Amino acid sequence: MTSTQRLVVLGATGSIGASTLDVVERHRDRFEVVALTAHSRIDDLARLCARHSPRFAVVDGEGDALRLRTLLRQAGVATEVLAGSAALEQVAALPEVDAVMAAIVGAAGLRPTLAAVRAGKRVLLANKEALVMAGDLFMAEVCRANAVLLPIDSEHNAVFQSLPADYAGNLKAKGIRRILLTASGGPFRTLPLEQFASITPAQACAHPKWVMGRKISVDSATMMNKGLEVIEAHYLFNAPADCIEIVIHPQSVMHSMVQYIDGSVIAQLGNPDMRTPIAHALAYPQRIDSGVAPLDLMQIGQLNFERPDAARFPCIELAYRALRQAGTAPAILNAANEVAVAEFLADRLPFARIADVIAATLDSQPTIAATDLATVTGADVEARSVATSILRRWQ
Ligand code: NAD
Ligand code: MG
Repeated sequence: MTSTQRLVVLGATGSIGASTLDVVERHRDRFEVVALTAHSRIDDLARLCARHSPRFAVVDGEGDALRLRTLLRQAGVATEVLAGSAALEQVAALPEVDAVMAAIVGAAGLRPTLAAVRAGKRVLLANKEALVMAGDLFMAEVCRANAVLLPIDSEHNAVFQSLPADYAGNLKAKGIRRILLTASGGPFRTLPLEQFASITPAQACAHPKWVMGRKISVDSATMMNKGLEVIEAHYLFNAPADCIEIVIHPQSVMHSMVQYIDGSVIAQLGNPDMRTPIAHALAYPQRIDSGVAPLDLMQIGQLNFERPDAARFPCIELAYRALRQAGTAPAILNAANEVAVAEFLADRLPFARIADVIAATLDSQPTIAATDLATVTGADVEARSVATSILRRWQ
């Protein structure tokens, strides 16, 4: 790597995108932004281009591209504007790029993130859905292309930091018993079950500890986020489902743990702020200031832990089921979840029925081996259409 790291931020206008650019701004000597991408909020993207002067900006359609070009011309910014999904893959694989922050939300992030992997980049992975959908293929490409994959999800970043430095994908060989993924439990950890029927999108998006995009906020409220993270941990660390346990920890200070056979448990702690794992991955193996305040354990006072309630959070079991089924099942789970969450956010599906849509989609779709990307994306498209028709039948 050169002394200045040349960076692409996929999903620059999102929550992770903003935190990434906040860290980058603190270290202008270390990072040069080559490309920024966004799907909406074109005005925000124009402002980010003015601040970071990337060579490229990528948007979805020609209409947005025209608008962004006009805004940039007015502001005297020389960034070249590209449009469409092929352009996302193109900027993720540019020869002059060292690192790619994969922070698009959902299945839309799969192809551009894979393009970065295939080009052998240092890939900072926030877009967990890409790994959930195509885990085996994704990890095989990481090996083949010699890409460096660094987890941004706070739990996986914590596990990465708590594993031996030379961990090579074999828990047993390193004397590891289990990975303990912590979860805040979201906004409804203690809400009486009879009130679940009237949960609104605004309530579901008001996370007690983390400020995030709307989709992952709903995933946190159903705890499907933790389910997706179990699958993510399985692929990232080659850990069997039985060796990944979820621990509810409402303070969100301990970000995950690795339990060793000698009785040791190694954890990573910090304030709940995504700039910590982002700074860790951006500078790895060095350490840089992230702007996050030092953890004050005296002020926090106590750390609590509890077992997740399976009846309250049925999405957790659905995720374990998809992981055990393997093949295309995780892609089907992810697709059905994306459809159900979008429907809930549009006020057309009760919160408590999100899990029902996912279960019914998993029940009706056969799992096949995920041998290539076309099979995975085919399963994704098919599951979306099945989930949508299930919803129409119920409405
Ligand atoms: P967000 O909704 O705030 O931002 C998403 C970004 O992706 C935006 O820039 C948006 O324009 C872009 N985008 C959306 N749809 C797109 C499409 N179809 N094509 C191209 N670009 C598209 O989401 P976020 O909270 O920043 O999360 C991003 C990813 O990081 C998700 O996969 C999420 O699970 C993961 N993650 C987020 C957090 C967090 O604290 N926010 C923590 C861990 C992991
Ligand atoms: Mg997480």
